[in-house]
Amino acid sequence: MPASGCPALRSSTPDSGAISSPIRGGAGEDIGVICALSGTVVVMKACYVTSLDAAEWIDNCAVGDLPDPALAPGACRIRVTRSSLNHHDIWTLRGVSSQPIVPPQILGCDAVGIIEGYGEGASTPYPVGTRVIVYSGRSCGKCDACRFGTPERCRNVGMLSEQPHQGAFAELLDVPTSALIALPDSVSDDMAACLPTAYLTAYRMLFERASVHPGMSVLVQGATGGVASAAILLAKRAGATVVATSRTEEGRQFARELGADAAAPAAKGELPSALAGVGCSDGVDVVIETVGEATWEYSLRSVRPGGTVVVAGATTGGNPPSRLNRVFWFQLAIHGSTGGTPQDLARLVQLVAHGGFAPRIDTVVPLSDIRSGFERLGAGAQHGKIVVAIGAS
Ligand SMILES: [Zn+2]
Repeated sequence: MPASGCPALRSSTPDSGAISSPIRGGAGEDIGVICALSGTVVVMKACYVTSLDAAEWIDNCAVGDLPDPALAPGACRIRVTRSSLNHHDIWTLRGVSSQPIVPPQILGCDAVGIIEGYGEGASTPYPVGTRVIVYSGRSCGKCDACRFGTPERCRNVGMLSEQPHQGAFAELLDVPTSALIALPDSVSDDMAACLPTAYLTAYRMLFERASVHPGMSVLVQGATGGVASAAILLAKRAGATVVATSRTEEGRQFARELGADAAAPAAKGELPSALAGVGCSDGVDVVIETVGEATWEYSLRSVRPGGTVVVAGATTGGNPPSRLNRVFWFQLAIHGSTGGTPQDLARLVQLVAHGGFAPRIDTVVPLSDIRSGFERLGAGAQHGKIVVAIGAS
């Protein structure tokens, strides 16, 4: 039966404590919960890793019923309405992860939904029924970075969909109450689902790692990706001159529609003239790099002496020629970046709420057809974010 059919879950409140009772398998492991009123096993629809053995990465996942895990003390239960696809999900299906991948590992880094209840002893920052976005990052709370107030630099940093945290491609998701941010009415679930990974990553790359401010110049590689399209929108919003690259004319036109001042192929010798056309013949102040091997050399050639390249992904591979001579001779700064802070996510929500920009959505796919979204993302055919519809928004 679908989890939504359980009246105990629907009527739970912060004061009701645990909202269901765990049942245990023969080996003692939790295999599901018994709905307090109906007495039936509660399951939920989810997209999860089934194995890492398939010939094609996309065949390593499935959409089906999983037992609804018992709500842990201190946690908040979200009924997920929207999520979105990220390359992180594809890397997980390829078996690349900072943590062991243990099937059935639920995928999905971005979560938007409705607060359905709180576990025993949890703080209750918002009433049940509040529409929220979930900060995806998880820090250990023990390393020096965590102890000294910079948990985004945690030595053991993780995120939703990485062990021991389940992902957001599921009808139900349990998260720490500190991860909740209430959504204003003017921010739709679809828009919010774009923010926690791709837009937050772009925000940190531009404004924290590269200190972009009005009048600076920014090159965004691979314009059609989720982080890249976010970077174009945010850099223009901040008053920067933006040049974008894409393999296809369609992608370059997309970049111009987002507001890029110029667009060119990265690898066909046309980029220098595009840069010169916007007054950047000596190179740009900042390069936003998430493509990796296919564009790295052009990133180093396109940044001005003393400029900054920020790297937050390597979708075409992580081992390009390093060109160290160019790095030291032109005194380049190369910064890595991952995710962002909860405060940054809250600022992004406010920026969208007050009309600062609208996240660019490529398509919305239902959870049952998530495979088509994966195929589109894997082929690099998307223009913006692919949102996953999981529950009624
Ligand atoms: Zn830590």
